[in-house]
Amino acid sequence: MSLKAMVFIDGAWLYRSRSSIFAKLGEEHGCEIDYAKLPRVFCEDVANFLDEDVGLVRTNYFGTIPSVRSSFSSSKQRSFYDFLEKSCGYEMEIHEVDVSGNEGRDESWVKVALASSLMFNSAMPGAFDVAILIGDDTDYAPALRRARMFGRRIQLVTAHAAGGVQPATGTSLIWKSHVSDFPPLYIDDHAEEVRLVRENIMRTCKQCGREEETTWAGPEFFCSECRSKRTIRVS
Ligand SMILES: [Zn+2]
Repeated sequence: MSLKAMVFIDGAWLYRSRSSIFAKLGEEHGCEIDYAKLPRVFCEDVANFLDEDVGLVRTNYFGTIPSVRSSFSSSKQRSFYDFLEKSCGYEMEIHEVDVSGNEGRDESWVKVALASSLMFNSAMPGAFDVAILIGDDTDYAPALRRARMFGRRIQLVTAHAAGGVQPATGTSLIWKSHVSDFPPLYIDDHAEEVRLVRENIMRTCKQCGREEETTWAGPEFFCSECRSKRTIRVS
C-alpha cells in the first residue's frame, strides 16, 4: 500500500517565493508556473527519498482576498483562485480581509488557518502519512511538532534567498529541531520542472465542434471564430 501525502500551501509565502524561481531561471520579469504540477513535484521527491510509492491525496491552499468593501479590485485574484480550484484540483480556503486597515493581519490568518487544517487532518485517522508544507515560517513549528506526535511525517519546502543563500536562521523552519522528518526541499531547485510550458494542442470547440490548434489548457475551449463572434463568455 502506498503512503498518502497531503500538501499544505501558504499562499502568501508561495507568492513571495516565486521570485526565487524567476531568479533561478533568469526570468527577471517572471514566468508562468505550472500550479497543477507543483504539488506532485514535491510528492515525487518524498517518494524518491523513501523509495516507496507516495500518492497525493489533497492539496490545501490558504490565501486571502481584499474584501468587497475595500477599493482594491480583486477580480484577477478571484479568477486565479478559481483556476487553482477548478483546473488544478486544489482545496481552497480563502479569507476576505479589509486591506485598507491593518495589512499585518492578512498573513496571520493564513498561518492560523493552515495550522488548524494540519492539526485537524493529523487527528483524522488515516487521512495522510506525510504532510508537505510549502511555506517556511517559524510560526508553524508548534503545529508541526504536534502533527509529528500524531505519527505524521513532515516534509518542509522552502526557498533560497537571492544568490542561492540559505534561509536565515531566525526565520526559517529548517533550522528548528523536531519539526521535520526529511531534508528540506527548495522550490527554486525545481524551477525548470514547475515552469509552465505551453504546448500547442488540437482541441474541439465546445460551441461549434470544430478543431483548432491552441495553447489554452483550461477546462472549456472555444475556437477563435466563436470567440470573435462574442456569442459566448470567455473567462
Ligand atoms: Zn467554435
